[in-house]
Amino acid sequence: MPFQFNVGDHSSPVANYSSFNSSQYSKLKWARNKLFRMVKNNPSCNAHFRTLPNGRSLSSMIGDSSIWVNYGSMIAPLHGEIHVPTGEIAIGDRAFNMGRWMVLATIIHEFAHHNGAPITGGNTLAEEAVYHCGLGTAQEYYDGVDDPRTPYDPNVGG
Ligand SMILES: [Zn+2]
Repeated sequence: MPFQFNVGDHSSPVANYSSFNSSQYSKLKWARNKLFRMVKNNPSCNAHFRTLPNGRSLSSMIGDSSIWVNYGSMIAPLHGEIHVPTGEIAIGDRAFNMGRWMVLATIIHEFAHHNGAPITGGNTLAEEAVYHCGLGTAQEYYDGVDDPRTPYDPNVGG
């Protein structure tokens, strides 16, 4: 069973992590379908995930129904967040307001943290997962200058 979105069927142990509404859920379903196809068609995505501290492929993680993604109403200005002790993930309004591609990028970024990419400021491993899964340009990656037309941001640390 794939990883799960909280649509009222999960009581998160993390305070302020709650369920998505139906308009958020439609963006999430699009992102999940896209994610499954990207992982299958883009080997560099799993290759990057296997280099992260916990060593899991993204294929393995997206097929893991114990991983829950919740709505984080209080996480602004972040797009997403992970509660490390429980592994619970939250996506916030900022990501939804920027559209489904940013929702997809945020899921990938937080899954990279779930796989051990450091949260500490300045470490770019989590955001690099967004690039390696095909959501940024090589110019952004190598020059370190953000192109606002892609959801990848080479200046995001932690
Ligand atoms: Zn992060």
